[in-house]
Amino acid sequence: MSSGADSAVFGRSSATLSTASHGEGVYLYDTDGRQYLDGSGGAAVSCLGHSDEKVRAAIHGQLDKLAFAHTGFFTSEPAERLARKLIDNAPGDIARAYLLAGGSEAVEAALKLARQYFLEIGQPGRHRVIARRQSYHGNTLGALAAGGNAWRREKYAPLLIEVSHIAPCFAYREKHADESLEAYGQRAANELEAEIQRLGPDSVMAFIAEPVVGATAGAVDPAPGYFQRIREICDAHGILLILDEVMCGMGRTGSLFACEQDGIAPDIVTIAKGLGAGYAPIGAMLASERIYRAIADGSGSFQHGHTYHGHPLAAAAGGAVLERLVDDGLVAGVPGKGDRLVQALQARFGQHPHVGDIRGRGLFRGVELVENRETKAPFEPSRKINVKVKKAAMAEGLICYPAGGTVDGKSGDHILLAPPFIINDDQIDELTDKLGRAIDTAI
Ligand code: PLP
Repeated sequence: MSSGADSAVFGRSSATLSTASHGEGVYLYDTDGRQYLDGSGGAAVSCLGHSDEKVRAAIHGQLDKLAFAHTGFFTSEPAERLARKLIDNAPGDIARAYLLAGGSEAVEAALKLARQYFLEIGQPGRHRVIARRQSYHGNTLGALAAGGNAWRREKYAPLLIEVSHIAPCFAYREKHADESLEAYGQRAANELEAEIQRLGPDSVMAFIAEPVVGATAGAVDPAPGYFQRIREICDAHGILLILDEVMCGMGRTGSLFACEQDGIAPDIVTIAKGLGAGYAPIGAMLASERIYRAIADGSGSFQHGHTYHGHPLAAAAGGAVLERLVDDGLVAGVPGKGDRLVQALQARFGQHPHVGDIRGRGLFRGVELVENRETKAPFEPSRKINVKVKKAAMAEGLICYPAGGTVDGKSGDHILLAPPFIINDDQIDELTDKLGRAIDTAI
């Protein structure tokens, strides 16, 4: 079946979805035998490509031993191994890992943990969350409320908890021409201070942000010093800093956690996508010693849970992925490959009349498409340039992740690139060539 028109799966309403058949290295194949270079790892998921031997063996081995044991009764060896390895490799004083089935679940758990922490330490007045307009934190109600994507929130607005949204740190769009990058970063971060003052510092429990913004903006990396100032502000007011690394974490930007490059550590950090690398649905919420200790010494347990949290099969997959990323040196290779990708993108699009910005870190890159390169004017949203690029890229045999303008109506269409870490130089050139043809066809 190559058309989704008579699909029995309740999902996207597209009548043009191909049916995926199998994967090999950086390529996916459909049932019509067409090959696609996975230039975005789906949505920054498939960091190891589609046929990793070690991860497949780990899943098979675990399945032969134990598929499931409810966490109300047991922990499991793969869950313990994965949690330990995550803690050992996390920044700051992360003390515990809570294993879930994906990114939205991890964000929900983070918000609830933050609330419980303040109850445990006797500050029940703290319940407000501050986030950023240019953000996506997931599709469940708490995560959707935290996110700033207007289009995704619109229909469900009456169901969402109140969250304040401050400006993102987005130099291409927001920095004044006569301002240094550093000064802009401080100005953007200080919006948090102003919002805390507006709400009343004693009512705020957490600030949540993606260190490098993914789906809503196309790999927008922060200005130098931005997150250090954010950390300072959170500390000054006793507010928890939740970093959402669901998309940018697990080596995608060149370090296992993206925030390592900003010289800060979170109180809570969420991860998912690259942790399962597409081999299993898994996410995690990691919490610092201070938070863990407050609960351990207080009520004794985090009041949360899902049937499938800590699933042994998913944990075995995540453990093997982490070994590949850390022990087998795949993350260490990301900065070099990222540089190679940027060079190829600059060579192809550096002077392109409709490419306004090429940005990001490591193998997490964004290409912003604009009507006018000089004025940065975006395309009219009704032209749906991002949808056209996606379609043209699929026809070229390339998967890339396009999105439209969602930032205060100012940002334009962009393409997110997040190829597997095993991509080689020839495949990087193939990606760039195909993307170039797709953009030229679409515009
Ligand atoms: N947080 C971020 C930063 C994301 O990019 C996403 C998904 O794109 C999520 C959370 C939600 O993750 P999931 O789709 O696994 O629920």
